[in-house]
Amino acid sequence: MASEDPGALRPLIEATPSDPRFPSLGEPVLAELSGFGWEQAVEAGTALFRAGESHGTFFALLDGAVDVRRDDASGELVVSYRDRGQFIGELGLLTEQRTYLTAVATGPGRVLVIPREQFRLLMATKPTISDVIFGALIARRETLRASPAALAIRIIGSRYSPEALALRTFASRNRLAHTWVDLEEADDVGVLLASIGVAVRDTPVVVTPTAVLRRPTPGQFAEQLGLTYHPVPGRVFDLAVIGAGPAGLAASVYGASEGLDTVSLDTVGPGGQAGSSSRIENYAGFPNGISGGDLTARTAIQAQRLGARLVSPCEVVALRAERGFHVVTLRDASELPCRAVVVATGARYRRLEVPDLDRFEGNGVYYAATDLEARSCGGSEVLVVGGGNSAGQAAVYLSQQGCPVSIAVRRTDLAATMSAYLVNRIEADPRIELLTQTEVRSVHGDPHLERVTVEHTPTGEHRVLECAALFCFIGAVPATAWLEGAVSLDRKGFVPTDRSLSAQDRGHPHFAGREPLPYETSAPGVFAVGDVRSGSMKRVAAAVGEGSSAVRSAHEYLAASG
Ligand SMILES: Cc1cc2nc3c(=O)[nH]c(=O)nc-3n(C[C@H](O)[C@H](O)[C@H](O)COP(=O)(O)OP(=O)(O)OC[C@H]3O[C@@H](n4cnc5c(N)ncnc54)[C@H](O)[C@@H]3O)c2cc1C
Repeated sequence: MASEDPGALRPLIEATPSDPRFPSLGEPVLAELSGFGWEQAVEAGTALFRAGESHGTFFALLDGAVDVRRDDASGELVVSYRDRGQFIGELGLLTEQRTYLTAVATGPGRVLVIPREQFRLLMATKPTISDVIFGALIARRETLRASPAALAIRIIGSRYSPEALALRTFASRNRLAHTWVDLEEADDVGVLLASIGVAVRDTPVVVTPTAVLRRPTPGQFAEQLGLTYHPVPGRVFDLAVIGAGPAGLAASVYGASEGLDTVSLDTVGPGGQAGSSSRIENYAGFPNGISGGDLTARTAIQAQRLGARLVSPCEVVALRAERGFHVVTLRDASELPCRAVVVATGARYRRLEVPDLDRFEGNGVYYAATDLEARSCGGSEVLVVGGGNSAGQAAVYLSQQGCPVSIAVRRTDLAATMSAYLVNRIEADPRIELLTQTEVRSVHGDPHLERVTVEHTPTGEHRVLECAALFCFIGAVPATAWLEGAVSLDRKGFVPTDRSLSAQDRGHPHFAGREPLPYETSAPGVFAVGDVRSGSMKRVAAAVGEGSSAVRSAHEYLAASG
């Protein structure tokens, strides 16, 4: 096979076939794959794909060599494939993201071409081959995320901009290979922005190989990357899963793996509350704990591999029954019909009742403590409000990131509200100060948060804390406003299911005399799982279990309804 080209520059990533990220498929596998596509001759300069294209085609190298480069002024060589049986591409082949790099043959050769639909069929029907390809695609994405190849997509903005944070959250939740350029840290902001023809007032900016987006929403960013779902007239999904936290993702994995045509919709991106948890220590099978972001990102990829369509950012605003179907209405007023629905919209953190809070949300006031928010704090003093496990985890994590942390709680101690292991860690950490019987009264700063005034409630004494960020974890409210009128809700807005339904709901004629199935709401064929469900345990493992189990009920419902 092609030997080293002595004149070639070294690529950023070495693609040696002994590396599981760049395996060479053997002859029997290539013979099997040939049934899914066709052979094609290439010449020097033939582009297999260019940055910005939406092709989804799988290429395996049969003869010759293919270079993958950044398609910008740098033209940087990212990886060079030179061995027969190596395949080109990364995770975007599964997520349908537009390419952000360009692949070009370096000389005469041949490739095996497998178009998108056939590639999906291959991944679904050839588990042994699909394991190798899938493992490599995931590993390549992670490598690209950490390499200069990630400069192909840049988000440029201020660390204090909520709009920039929303874009970064979208990119992070979707595991995009991208680079964050913090204007507060960049050496010469004027030159940097001038080089792409934008002004500071245009930021945040997203730069892709084919576009410069000024102040885009996450939805516009997704659209540019080809990740937006446009409902296809006449297409009816078997199962629509609303919410892609642990419960919804588990439902999507099980729905797709059980052969249901499954779509998952989320306002932000895969992850949910778990995605904002720095370390989950009570999820079985991970003795050292796992970050919520990693856990949910893996599950999201698993769901896609099994054939579920994951769509974000995509907010569902209403649900109705119509002629035997369920119709899901999206924020842009488009509609998506389906035969069964799993509601997994979880809960959102309550806001503090403090004047001017909204001025700092995303700019010093946060409802998650991940790497994104921690980096904005840059080791400065922070305040965590709340006495539950999520507050405890946030405090420990932020302290580990070098921030002096104060925790404000209303009670006299943490014992009744926080797990003992977290209480012990907090007590043992000299960087964390616990402020009991304390409430936040006001927030100050211009333009970003600088100080917080708290009150010690028994004495009425006020204290001003220097504070670059306030992390708010004071209990959650269910995300069910969009369900008003579609299913029954309990007093607090959670969704009752099966045995928790009122006698009136259970006896409604639309159940035609049958008992509601496990996780079924007052609307037949609509199931609710995870934190949004009335009486649920509000833990990751419980959410995953419920999401998985509800699919069985959905199957039963679909089988009975024909
Ligand atoms: C910081 C933190 C730490 C935690 N740590 C732990 C822990 O260590 N162990 C543990 O067991 N549990 C922990 N939890 C709790 C755990 O994360 C939740 O119980 C779990 O995430 C619930 O999963 P869910 O899928 O039901 O809902 P969620 O995780 O809340 O996900 C709901 C999803 O629905 C989406 N959504 C909402 N409304 C709409 C709509 N209208 N349209 C489309 N999408 C919508 C949201 O964007 C979200 O992605 C923690 C929670 C937090 C916040």
